[in-house]
Amino acid sequence: QPIILAQDLGKTYRSGKLEVPALRKVSFEVDPGEFVAIVGPSGSGKSTLFYILGGLTQATSGSVLIGGTDFARLTDAERTKMRRAKIGFVFQRFNLLPTLSAMGNIEIAHDIANLGAEEKKPIDQPLLEHLTEMLGIKGRLEHRPNELSGGEQQRVAIARALISRPAIVLADEPTGNLDTKNSDAVLHMLRTSSRELNQTVLMITHNPEAAQIADRILHMRDGEITHIENGKG
Ligand code: ADP
Ligand code: ADP
Repeated sequence: QPIILAQDLGKTYRSGKLEVPALRKVSFEVDPGEFVAIVGPSGSGKSTLFYILGGLTQATSGSVLIGGTDFARLTDAERTKMRRAKIGFVFQRFNLLPTLSAMGNIEIAHDIANLGAEEKKPIDQPLLEHLTEMLGIKGRLEHRPNELSGGEQQRVAIARALISRPAIVLADEPTGNLDTKNSDAVLHMLRTSSRELNQTVLMITHNPEAAQIADRILHMRDGEITHIENGKG
C-alpha cells in the first residue's frame, strides 16, 4: 500500500474575480521508505502541493490519502493531530523558535508530535545521539538560533523533524538558503534517514542537482507533473 496516494489533485486560488489555477489533476503514489523529489520552476505548484500533502491547506478537487486515510474527510482537529503525529516538516527558512535553544526546539517538536498520544514517550536518546552526531550539532545544542549559522540552524531543523520518527518527512527547499557544504550535509541526512529509519521523504527543490539524490524525481510545470525520472539515490 502506498503511504501517499494523490489522485487528480487540483487547487485554484481565488481572490475576487481572479482565479489562479495552481494544480491541475496531479496524481502520483509514494511507497513507504521512498525518497521522492519534486522539481520545477517557480510558480509550477510545488509549494501548493506541499501544503496540501502536509494538511496545511485543502485541495479544491481530487483526494490525497496518507497511509490510507483521506485528509479531506477528517475534521480540522483530526487533521492537525495526524499532521503532528505523522509528518515532520523542514522549511527553507528553518523556522526555529527564536527564544529556545537548539535542544529546546528539538524537545518542543517532540512534545508536539506526542500531543495526541495516549502515553507521552520520552525522547529516544540513542536516536538523538545519532542525529546530532551525524548532523555535527552536538556541541551547539545549548545555543539559540541567532547564535547559530544558517547551516547549523537547518541541521537543527532536520534533527527536530526526525526526532519523533515521523512516517513522512516533508521538506520544502531545505537547501535553498545553504552553501554547498551544508546542502550536502542536509541532503545526506535526509537520504540516510530514509534508508535507515525507513522514512518516507518528499523534498521540494528547484535545484535539479539536489534532486538527483532521490529515488524518483517528479517534474512539475504549470501545475502538472510532466514526467517522472529515476534519481541516482
Ligand atoms: P512554486 O512553489 O512551484 O513556486 P506555488 O505553488 O507557490 O508554486 O504557486 C503556483 C501558482 O499559484 C502560481 O501561479 C502562484 O502565483 C499561485 N499562488 C500560490 N499561492 C497563492 C495564493 N495564496 N493566492 C493566489 N495565488 C497563489
Ligand atoms: P501550529 O499550531 O501553528 O500548527 P504547532 O503548535 O503544531 O504549530 O507547532 C509549534 C512549533 O513547532 C512550530 O514552530 C513548528 O514549526 C514546530 N513543529 C510542529 N510540528 C513539527 C514537526 N512535525 N516537525 C518539525 N517542527 C514542527
